[in-house]
Amino acid sequence: MQTRLSQLLPYLRELPALVRLRQWWRRQSPHRQDRYAMLAPLVAVLLFLAAIVAAFGYLRLEEMEREQEAVRRDVEYAQQRMRLRLLERQEELVRLAQEVSSQELDADQFRNRANVLLNQYPELQGLSWIDERRRLRVAHGNPSLAHSLVNSPVRSGVLPEKPSETENAFALARELRQPIYVQRSATPDGTALLELHLPLHSRTRFAGVLLAEYSLDTLYRYGVPSEVSARYAVSLRDSRGEVLAGSSAPKRNRAGQWLGWASHANEYEVPVSPVGNGLVLHAQAYRASLGVVGSGLFWLVGTLSVMTAWMLIANWRHTRRRMQAQQALVLETNFRRAMENSMPTGMRALDLQGHITYVNAAFCQMTGWSERELVGCTAPFPYWPEEDRDMLMGRLEDELTGRVTPGGFQVRVKRKDGTLFDARIYVSPLIDARGLQTGWMTSMTDITEPNRVREQLYASYERFTTVLEALDASVSVAPLGADELLFANKLYRLWFHEQSNGHVRLSTQAGLPARVSTEDSQDSVDGLVGMPTSALPDADAENAEVYVEELGKWLEVRTRYLTWVDGRLAQMVIATDITPRRLAEAQSAAQAERAQTASRLITMGEMASSVAHELNQPLTAINNYCNGMVSRIKAQQISEEDLLGALEKTAKQAQRAGQIIQRIRAFVKRSEPNRTLSEVAVMVNEAVELAEIELRRYNVRLSYFMADLPPVLVDPILIEQVLVNLLKNAAESIVHAQRPPPHRRVELHVLPATVEGKPVVEFTVTDTGRGIAPEVMARLYEAFHTTKAEGMGIGLSLCRSIVESHQGRMKAENLYNGSEVTGCRFTFWLPVDGPAAASAPPQLQAEKPQVRA
Ligand code: ADP
Repeated sequence: MQTRLSQLLPYLRELPALVRLRQWWRRQSPHRQDRYAMLAPLVAVLLFLAAIVAAFGYLRLEEMEREQEAVRRDVEYAQQRMRLRLLERQEELVRLAQEVSSQELDADQFRNRANVLLNQYPELQGLSWIDERRRLRVAHGNPSLAHSLVNSPVRSGVLPEKPSETENAFALARELRQPIYVQRSATPDGTALLELHLPLHSRTRFAGVLLAEYSLDTLYRYGVPSEVSARYAVSLRDSRGEVLAGSSAPKRNRAGQWLGWASHANEYEVPVSPVGNGLVLHAQAYRASLGVVGSGLFWLVGTLSVMTAWMLIANWRHTRRRMQAQQALVLETNFRRAMENSMPTGMRALDLQGHITYVNAAFCQMTGWSERELVGCTAPFPYWPEEDRDMLMGRLEDELTGRVTPGGFQVRVKRKDGTLFDARIYVSPLIDARGLQTGWMTSMTDITEPNRVREQLYASYERFTTVLEALDASVSVAPLGADELLFANKLYRLWFHEQSNGHVRLSTQAGLPARVSTEDSQDSVDGLVGMPTSALPDADAENAEVYVEELGKWLEVRTRYLTWVDGRLAQMVIATDITPRRLAEAQSAAQAERAQTASRLITMGEMASSVAHELNQPLTAINNYCNGMVSRIKAQQISEEDLLGALEKTAKQAQRAGQIIQRIRAFVKRSEPNRTLSEVAVMVNEAVELAEIELRRYNVRLSYFMADLPPVLVDPILIEQVLVNLLKNAAESIVHAQRPPPHRRVELHVLPATVEGKPVVEFTVTDTGRGIAPEVMARLYEAFHTTKAEGMGIGLSLCRSIVESHQGRMKAENLYNGSEVTGCRFTFWLPVDGPAAASAPPQLQAEKPQVRA
């Protein structure tokens, strides 16, 4: 059978319709094909269900027809029986009527005959003999008429005038001279009756009727065969369908109707023939024609079909879900494939035997070999450089035996064109979905560029460290609030070794501690200067000079905050050895001091003759007083009182001489630089008194004006030295100019002033000399530059350095009268609030207060 089918199949495939169907099918998109493939079984099931329903309906119709046929047959049989019965009775009655017509019977005989008939036929309820004038001659049995006659005109022997069915029938019987059946409306007691009017004749004349009354109930009971009434609800009905006798089937509910498909299908009615349409025999099958087995089968088939359809739909939905999952899987696979292909990392899979099972696009691109060339290869692989083969073989064996280097390893890889590149290889086991190892996965990254970058970085690091190491300053970086040292150069290591305490000490001594209390370091505001730590790196570098005892060195310390490479806030300390500079500074300071003292001594030396002359006065006076007193004591001309006065005067002169010597001693005494808050007036008076000795000798008048001034923080001896120098130079200039006595005048003004918004004390010495020649002006403050034969030329140079060491400034200018130089003015000022560190010029930093370790 199967072989025959298989033989047939090629022919079937050639059928044009099938060919067209196949072509149509191929034209459809896969999605559509899936959809049709899915719908086809559903349609098949529905078609099957429809076929079953159609077959079932067809059978049902056939069965109904059969049933209908049976009903009709049975009803007609019953009708026949009833008809025969009625005809039979009719014949008997016709015979009786003929006897009555031929006047063979009198009333009694009639009654007898009627009695016999009534007994014989139970459905015959009554017999009445009515004459042509509708008078009741005889009534026998239990005629309803007899009952109605009691209250009706019939009682008087006349039928009621009012036309009724009976009357109509009577009239009809008289007219037609034929037996007339009439089905009379139910009597008041509810029994339905059938009347038979048999016309009576007296010769040819109408002579009344014989009225027979049948009880329809009894007629039904005896007329309908029991096997029929057992199978159907049989009833006698009138023309309007009212049930007169018998039973009617109960009305079916909707379900019953539906099950029976058509309620009217199994009922049938037929008029009872001798009576006509007035009496109908009606039958209806009791049993729902759909049998239990039939309906059961129907429901079984229906349920199975519904279940099949439901299963198909469920299956369809399941398949759809599967399709969606499959689609997602395809997408995922595509995505992964795209990812693998777009990845710059080369991927290679090895099976457990060491065959290449997979390489991605990047791997092929890196090595230059195609996937086809590589897949299936075993060691030695074509991309292994010949010289590294042994090493790579060892590596591969390690790989295959599971000795994996977690951080990967670096190898050289040969491209197809023979060039080499550095690659880093990572190996990991390839585990399948069941958790079994199926091979090894290797990823390869080209690290030629990173290697180059690393080398460059290393080189730049080398350069950087070489520079830092060779620096003659110690550089160290430490995080704020931690003991570790982030960086230290060679000099730092030499001085402080690898410990951070040197860094901390330097920054602490410089007043910029790197260590902050831990609680504070948690906050955004540090404990250093109260500024946000984030702002620290932007802060300017600070520097200070500190003495480190253990090194025996002076160091200039610069600190700077910076954000370290790991984001931490760190402090960088750069310490430069400034011991030689400090020594030089100290030496030059000592020299300057010596120079100042020497200069003062020179000044005094220059003033020696003036001083001698100055001293001569009191000494001469003392001598004169003493001589006078001696001679007067010798002549005993002196009173005790005069002697006392003379002695007091002598003592005063001696005191004066002593004062002069004292002042000169104080002026030239070598002393340590000592700044104190000094009264300007005291200083000026001292200087003026000293200078006046010289000025008086030169016959130069000194006038000075001094305002009320606050004390200034200065070394008074040095300021006095400046003033004496300037006043002496002024007097010498006047002498040199050979001015006449009225013009031999020097003025000293000491006044408050402001320079750059700061209060200062301004000293001005104005002379009436020749002024300063332009060539001298350029070299005025140069040491050992003098225009005087006996001059040393260090006075002004010292004056300027003294003034500037007090943060003051000095200047000189000529005074003119028209184009003629009439004199010269030297001005210098000193700040009132003392020298401030901030405004210190760079060369004077050594003067700053320092921290001594
Ligand atoms: P010395 O007085 O020993 O020459 P100084 O340094 O005091 O040294 O002065 C340098 C020079 O400046 C003097 O030689 C002189 O030429 C000039 N000089 C100083 N003061 C005056 C002045 N008031 N008028 C004119 N020239 C002056």
